[in-house]
Amino acid sequence: MMEFDLIDAIRARAGRRRGDVALGIGDDAALLEVPAGRQLVACTDTMVAGVHFLAGTAAEDLGWKSLAVNLSDLAAMGADPAWALLSLTLPEADGGFVDRFAEGFVELAAAHGVALVGGDTTQGPLSITVTALGTVPHGGALMRGGARAGDAVFVTGTLGDAAAALRLLRDSGLGTRASGEQPPVPQPILFERLSRPKPRVAAGQTLRGVASACIDVSDGLLADLAHVCRASGVAAEVDIEALPVSAALLAAFDKVACRGFALSGGDDYELCFTAPPERGAEIASAFERLGLRASRIGRIGTGEGVRVLDAEGNPIDTLPAGWQHFATSRAGSE
Ligand code: ADP
Ligand code: MG
Repeated sequence: MMEFDLIDAIRARAGRRRGDVALGIGDDAALLEVPAGRQLVACTDTMVAGVHFLAGTAAEDLGWKSLAVNLSDLAAMGADPAWALLSLTLPEADGGFVDRFAEGFVELAAAHGVALVGGDTTQGPLSITVTALGTVPHGGALMRGGARAGDAVFVTGTLGDAAAALRLLRDSGLGTRASGEQPPVPQPILFERLSRPKPRVAAGQTLRGVASACIDVSDGLLADLAHVCRASGVAAEVDIEALPVSAALLAAFDKVACRGFALSGGDDYELCFTAPPERGAEIASAFERLGLRASRIGRIGTGEGVRVLDAEGNPIDTLPAGWQHFATSRAGSE
């Protein structure tokens, strides 16, 4: 198989077109119509084998996730996703791999009406770079720098599932299997969160004009909320009892471990956002309509840094040693 055959295979799968794609795959570059009055929102993320994903990860899952992590960044900006570019570096011209990869990629792209409009295909160690493009009404993007003292802190969905799945895979030695072998799935719900994260696109769109700041949780809640604090020049408190964790996670690990995953585990791809507390009821009903949980987990204050508070409201000074370990025992982040 040659480079052009691989590109043709991807192009054949890309299928669905958008009216705003004046020129898609096939020329030197794509031509895209950005609607008047809107800003282009652009992001890119690279996934490298052995750094961002385990050897043996299914090609379909890689296809899905490489787009998902980018749509998550667009979601955190409140953007409407529109287009994507895909740069594939492959050790060999493996048509089967490309086909399965494209299947997972296109499945998620179709779910969000995203058109694949170009990319690059080269030979080398397995690496995937996706660029996602979307739009927001001019001035309407959500950013990290808008949190203000007095705001409440929220997070969507549940935290820690993906990091727990990665832990289970590693502990069972499954993460080191030869490429292509499909590992048995010890905790299907947790594993699904790791392999097929669902970018919170609708949540991000809903939060335009509502949230004061927003970030997607890719490196762990504490790390990502700290980014918001730094960008906003504020401090945050997180109530440990308020952390949303799934029933699947609670069934697989004890409470201390669950909280460790929720605070420091990566790959959640939930949205963490801040908003004035008086908007809490509006947020609750908006998320009810979305069928997604939004938990109020803390508050913004003056100062700097993120503190975790126990049930009595006292700061937890030393997080159990294991929690630090969770922060570094992941397949990586973007
Ligand atoms: P050039 O040499 O001008 O960069 P290429 O031969 O790399 O062109 O690509 C030809 C066309 O195929 C371009 O439109 C490019 O965007 C598209 N393309 C290449 N690789 C991919 C890919 N992995 N996914 C989607 N489109 C791709
Ligand atoms: Mg090229």
